[in-house]
Amino acid sequence: MCSVRYFSLLCGCLEIPFAFSRVTIYRYRFMPAPSTTSAPTNPTQLPDVSGHFGAYGGVFVPETLMTALADLTAAYEKARTDPVFQKELRHHLKEFAGRPTELYFAERLTEHCGGAKIYFKREDLLHTGAHKINNALAQALLAKRMGKKRIIAETGAGQHGVATAAACAKFGLECVVYMGAHDMERQALNVFRMRLMGAEVRGVEAGQKTLKEAINEAMRDWVTNVRSTHYILGTAYGSHPYPMMVRDFHRVIGQEAKEQMLAREGRLPDELVACVGGGSNAIGLFFDFLQDEKVRMFGVEAGGHGITKGEHAARFAGGRLGVLQGCKTFILQDADGQIELTHSVSAGLDYAAVGPEHAYYRDKGRIEFAYATDDEVLAAFQLCARQEGIIPALESTHALVHGMKRAKALAKDKIVLINLSGRGDKDVQQVAAILAATK
Ligand SMILES: *Cc1c(COP(=O)(O)O)cnc(C)c1O
Repeated sequence: MCSVRYFSLLCGCLEIPFAFSRVTIYRYRFMPAPSTTSAPTNPTQLPDVSGHFGAYGGVFVPETLMTALADLTAAYEKARTDPVFQKELRHHLKEFAGRPTELYFAERLTEHCGGAKIYFKREDLLHTGAHKINNALAQALLAKRMGKKRIIAETGAGQHGVATAAACAKFGLECVVYMGAHDMERQALNVFRMRLMGAEVRGVEAGQKTLKEAINEAMRDWVTNVRSTHYILGTAYGSHPYPMMVRDFHRVIGQEAKEQMLAREGRLPDELVACVGGGSNAIGLFFDFLQDEKVRMFGVEAGGHGITKGEHAARFAGGRLGVLQGCKTFILQDADGQIELTHSVSAGLDYAAVGPEHAYYRDKGRIEFAYATDDEVLAAFQLCARQEGIIPALESTHALVHGMKRAKALAKDKIVLINLSGRGDKDVQQVAAILAATK
């Protein structure tokens, strides 16, 4: 009985219709109340004690992992208010990752668009090439503090795997990265980078052999080795406390951006734009602006070939409420609850579900959502390279596409801040192949 439930929860049930009714929803009892005492509308109070952002989020895991999640929550609650942990983290973010990242005025793109001033937050300048190192480094430090010497992670394109491998090498932790076999072929260079830094990369042959299957395998490993092992999840997704914790580790993006913008322009930006895969770089930028009501925020999803079934990953354009891999949120699924295939030119946005906090603020109208198609992204990728001498990651280019549309729509005295979540070095071969094929 127990093993049936275990099996259904971990691998099958979230993709099998009617099995939803068999999912036990464990209310979180272990957690201390949030430390803040501000009004209930204060976003810093979310998630609530059960890990929910309104109707979204929560904890959906087999019983075996409940203790691990409770321990993690407790350890994180302690670390986040511990000045020693925070000081050490700040030190590594500076010395190892390269923070603070620059706020950059994209002068020629601004001219090209002819409207609002365009600024980039340069997360692409971070060590290992994207914002992901903020979270990987912080979670590795937390694992060390918890006495866990073995780290596991999932990765899609390999960016989170590379960031995790780097953090583990730095702290002397054992590192196993699960990656879909298909993704390993597509991202051979990242596989090599991870192995160079001492990580073991385990290929996953199940299903579509991509990110979703890699997460399932990582969770199976965690259930088996939970005592020795910490699971470094790579985005603001999954069961509580991950969406909250990963968000907090990326908040530094928005905190820096706010300070830099005030210093540079003497005021806040009018609009923020960030791409949304699981949602970590976006919520990291947005979070410290949530209470600045005049600042509009746009999350940009992957429109792929356009919004038809199986051809995109825009969860808010074609998804609905469901549960996938530990989390209740917007999911691309068919009428029976089967997870739909997704497509995007950028592997980092190619996932059927979106972080729960984004679903919450989208309902509230606080974060607005748009999508960019593959074709728009390929054009903007080349434009940015030519106009600014910056090659953005294909993921980040989704934000760029929408940010440029917004800049065109706004007057010259307005400011649009785009999160350049990563650099495009990893993408140049793929883009070269696509461009060659379409010539
Ligand atoms: C992984 C990745 C993303 C998507 O992840 P989020 O959690 O939504 O931020 C975006 N940009 C880059 C460069 C990435 O590597």
